Amino acid sequence: MANARRPVIAGNWKMFKTTHEATTFVESLWQKVQSLNSAELPDIVICPPFTALASVQTCIAKLGAPFLVAAQTMESRDNGAYTGEISPLMLADLGIQWVVLGHSERRQYFNETDETVAQKTVAALKHGITPIVCVGEQLMERENGLTDAVIEQQVRAVLTQISAADLPSIVIAYEPVWAIGTGKVCEAPEANRVCALIRHFVSEYGDAKQTRVLYGGSVKADNTQALMGQSDIDGGLVGGASLEAESFVGIIKQACLVKA
Ligand code: PEP
Repeated sequence: MANARRPVIAGNWKMFKTTHEATTFVESLWQKVQSLNSAELPDIVICPPFTALASVQTCIAKLGAPFLVAAQTMESRDNGAYTGEISPLMLADLGIQWVVLGHSERRQYFNETDETVAQKTVAALKHGITPIVCVGEQLMERENGLTDAVIEQQVRAVLTQISAADLPSIVIAYEPVWAIGTGKVCEAPEANRVCALIRHFVSEYGDAKQTRVLYGGSVKADNTQALMGQSDIDGGLVGGASLEAESFVGIIKQACLVKA
């Protein structure tokens, strides 16, 4: 199928931006993106904090911009006595199309496990929300030659819980933890090797041809071409460089050049 793996550039804002800052960003990004060839644009996904989801949605609709909106996490249950949590039902009600799940910061600081990430993935799919499932090894694990085993465990934990029919709807982001927010990007051939390994695991559960596998970890405009030029990397999950419209659009432009 042509273009079965449409490129994705997703910007994870983490715990940054007030609603005003968020909508100002969206307006500025749209101004810059409009000058690009729309046929070459990747899926552009913006991941604001919960408090800015509604204003970003409204702003995008008003502008008519082709941006998708993702939450940065969610609870797996639809509702209940879970103070402070946001459910997939609530996100779907807001029209949120995507959600980031199992980001290493959620695993590290908020006790998310392979099991909870799998439960959340199932819940997102049930509500028609595209999950970006994050996996990645710690530095110590890489240094001890455990990268592939860690990735296999994290990926299989999710794949065993979903149906083959859902494989085209999930996005997996390979984010080596040591590359997140450090300026230390994984070399493109090695990032590609791990992304290909992830695709191989997916293929054991069904058709992996449409599953998009992203790389995340210190992605900037100047390393986007090398990363996205690889055979098994379908885009980037971007943290720091997604906070300014100028640097984020720089990455989008490079992605357009590579995957055109
Ligand atoms: C991230 O937050 O997922 C990320 C990859 O961050 P950064 O681009 O800043 O490394």
